[in-house]
Amino acid sequence: MTNDQLPTNQAAAPDGYGKDGGADRPAIVIISRDPNARNRLVRELSRRYGMDYQVEVCDDPAGLEAHLRGLAGAGTPIAMVIGGVGELDPDGIDVLGTVRGIDPEAFRVAAVRWGEWETARPMFDAVSLGKIDHWVLRPEQVPDEEFNQSITQFLSEWRNQRAGGFEAVRIIGEQWSVRSQELRETFPRNGIPIGFYDANSERGQEMLSDFDPDQVDLPVVILRFGGEQPILFNPSNLEIAEAFGLTRPIPAEEVFDLAVVGSGPAGLAAAVYASSEGLRTVVIEREAVGGQAGTSSMIRNYPGFAQGVTGAKLAIEAFQQAWLFGSTFLFMRHVVGLSADSGCYQLQLSDGGVITARTVIIATGATYRRLGVPSLEALLGRGLFYGAGVSEAPAMRGRKVFVIGGANSAGQAAIHLAKWAAQVTVLVRADTLAATMSDYLIREITAAPNIDVRYQVQVVDATGTDHLESLVLEDRPSGHRQSVPADAVFALIGAQPRTDWLGDSVARDQLGFILTGPDLLGEGTGTDGTWSPDRQPMPHETSLPGVFAAGDVRQGSVKRVASAVGEGAVTIPLIHRRLDALAVAESAAGR
Ligand SMILES: Cc1cc2nc3c(=O)[nH]c(=O)nc-3n(C[C@H](O)[C@H](O)[C@H](O)COP(=O)(O)OP(=O)(O)OC[C@H]3O[C@@H](n4cnc5c(N)ncnc54)[C@H](O)[C@@H]3O)c2cc1C
Repeated sequence: MTNDQLPTNQAAAPDGYGKDGGADRPAIVIISRDPNARNRLVRELSRRYGMDYQVEVCDDPAGLEAHLRGLAGAGTPIAMVIGGVGELDPDGIDVLGTVRGIDPEAFRVAAVRWGEWETARPMFDAVSLGKIDHWVLRPEQVPDEEFNQSITQFLSEWRNQRAGGFEAVRIIGEQWSVRSQELRETFPRNGIPIGFYDANSERGQEMLSDFDPDQVDLPVVILRFGGEQPILFNPSNLEIAEAFGLTRPIPAEEVFDLAVVGSGPAGLAAAVYASSEGLRTVVIEREAVGGQAGTSSMIRNYPGFAQGVTGAKLAIEAFQQAWLFGSTFLFMRHVVGLSADSGCYQLQLSDGGVITARTVIIATGATYRRLGVPSLEALLGRGLFYGAGVSEAPAMRGRKVFVIGGANSAGQAAIHLAKWAAQVTVLVRADTLAATMSDYLIREITAAPNIDVRYQVQVVDATGTDHLESLVLEDRPSGHRQSVPADAVFALIGAQPRTDWLGDSVARDQLGFILTGPDLLGEGTGTDGTWSPDRQPMPHETSLPGVFAAGDVRQGSVKRVASAVGEGAVTIPLIHRRLDALAVAESAAGR
């Protein structure tokens, strides 16, 4: 093994690094047997990143572990290990796969040669299974801006997931308090970098000593931007939102053209299109922008992002776009009721406020039931998937896959996955599928040579560092446990729409999903008298004229980020139609 140190590495560390800054420059480690690949990577990475990162080179995979352990031992954070794949590095993906066991935070990036299309499929599979984080085309020219753009994005993701950078907000709280954990999740999901300090740690105690002990009520939230920089003691969500100055008081007489409830992909898309087309738009969000998508560490099937995109990034960009177009956002409060008065709708808010709007889009989404097995949840996206796994399925070629659930969605997923997987095992808690799955699916599953069903069984544990390796299954009647090798688990144990707050105001199906458009005209939908023969509900319109539903909350929705975005967008022309009709009616009435 050689450990080539490049001239740039020997340059003096810039301010904030090295001994003065207390932190070493993070390392980017290149690993390849191919001298040509190494040279290209070294040249491009050193020129562009040499000031801020140590660029290290390793030419023998057998020596990579010792090299990385050496860096870790010296206190050097490892930002990225970038490795060759191809003729001279046939085991390149497996080599990168070993990195997680040494430094779980280091990004593993495969460098692919332009034109080697046969590597595309294994690369996609490796990303889906969590063996590598990203792939990039090797630099072919100097400078190679496309290569650098990808590397900058990876390094930015790496920095975002680490503590120690810019802290817009500091939280001092108890490590395991529910409220502290809630705040630790909510701020970053809204794109706000935080630092968390355990109140029982030396540093936490030191920070708390700055305050009057009678005043301290944990968690303490310190805002570190703007002029005033307020310090909040055990604040409510509303107090935080107000301290941020993001909200503006809304006068009681203000009437919006459109109120959007929920700022997941559907709500954000609706807000972007509505405000860009001149509609006075308000968005109310109870938690964080991005909804479910915002909790996804990597969305790989959103069109236009071949490398995938983090849910948080997609959400923050869309939020900024809507905000810049003029949408008003009300965060950290939720809508608790919907009523109609004087040709407008009123939304009652959890803080006691009321929003008035001529039209409404309900985009409150759904919540997937989670398995709640901590060791397995830790492997989300690296072997554990919620949903049917349509986009992950091709990566399951030749693998051992488990589907959890006994409903039609689980049956369809099993049949779909069986096209690629070596073996699909359906795990069901009940002792039969007959009550929950359609007969045709049961017959198809029975006929499939590579699908088996295990009844009265549940997952209680899992193992895997890099990605899922095994599951522990418990036989429910006997309590007997068995460990089985597993490459992936697809959980389809139900989704619940977030519609309780609607009471009886809007027609829904038995599961609570909102009925829209032609689906409303069926028997027993509770729409009697609302719709006349000359005015049928428009697509996406609910049982209340002028109230629309978009995204996962709508019965029959596809439950994907792109479809939620699409639904949010297509409702806007319908909102225009509704507003035009209202304007005509108002002018006819001489108002
Ligand atoms: C972990 C995970 C990973 C996923 N990965 C993918 C993927 O890779 N690709 C893909 O296509 N799909 C993926 N999905 C599915 C996708 O995220 C959803 O289909 C999509 O987010 C639905 O968007 P939505 O706007 O309809 O609802 P949601 O995303 O559920 O957003 C609804 C929003 O409404 C807010 N809200 C709820 N009630 C109220 C109220 N009363 N008042 C105010 N606000 C309220 C919620 O806080 C939430 O922010 C994933 C889902 C999860 C959970």
